[in-house]
Amino acid sequence: MLTPIVRTVEEVQAAVARARGLGLNIGFVPTMGALHEGHAALIRAAGLPSAFVVVSIFVNPTQFGPNEDYSKYPRSLDADQQVCAAAGANLIFAPSADEMYPTNAAAFVDVSKLGDALCGASRPGHFRGVCTVVLKLFNIVAPDVAYFGAKDYQQARIIQQMVSDLNVPVIVKVEPTVREADGLALSSRNRYLSAEQRAAAPSIYRALQATQDRVSNSERDVSILEAGLQTELAAIPGSRIDYASIVDAETLQSLVLLVRPAVAAVAVYLGTTRLIDNIVLGK
Ligand code: AMP
Repeated sequence: MLTPIVRTVEEVQAAVARARGLGLNIGFVPTMGALHEGHAALIRAAGLPSAFVVVSIFVNPTQFGPNEDYSKYPRSLDADQQVCAAAGANLIFAPSADEMYPTNAAAFVDVSKLGDALCGASRPGHFRGVCTVVLKLFNIVAPDVAYFGAKDYQQARIIQQMVSDLNVPVIVKVEPTVREADGLALSSRNRYLSAEQRAAAPSIYRALQATQDRVSNSERDVSILEAGLQTELAAIPGSRIDYASIVDAETLQSLVLLVRPAVAAVAVYLGTTRLIDNIVLGK
């Protein structure tokens, strides 16, 4: 059976109330659609402890900058509905922009510091848009558990911080990045890549793995590690580095030496397509 789609806040709340009335736990997977196996893995993870899984599909205008890909971001609701059904989702919430942002909406959620580095530096206002829509969705759906992907490491950290700081009654779970066989992290934006760019793209993850290899070989100097990472990313044909940084895994602040848990996070343009990836550095 295809997963039913509702469009309004009232409808999703009524459906969730019915599920709760039956004693079911609510799991929630917020997405922007163009669903792939990474999203499906989140939906399946949600279905394990939660008997009723809601997936939101909403290309959120407030997290796109004026020159970003909001209008051309892929929208494929029919295919998304198939992915949701196959992964076991019980309900899709696909609101319009007007449903989510009535005119005169004036409140926003900002998580300072964590939102300033990495993607926040090159996408001003991005995480304010993400946090605002995610908190609104949490308030609308009122899930017990919400699922996010480790691929968007900074986003997951910021949402955990928001939930903790604002006492939002939801458990946040972060699931591993799903990759193609060649290592490329699945992303809705991969479909923008030309054949040449697609062939070059797995080198992004290979550069992150090479960084891990240097750490495994006892390199602890972050400037040396970052230089190696940047050299490898710069060598990818047609690439332009937005950032390639090794930061504290919790605070996302820069480090001099790897004396604390750290993450290597990168954003790389292949042509006009901006791809992000990361690796949590182990010993
Ligand atoms: P998006 O629709 O791209 O905003 O992503 C919705 C959710 O899916 C976010 O929590 C992402 O981190 C997660 N996600 C996207 N790509 C992947 C992936 N390759 N593996 C795991 N989770 C992912």
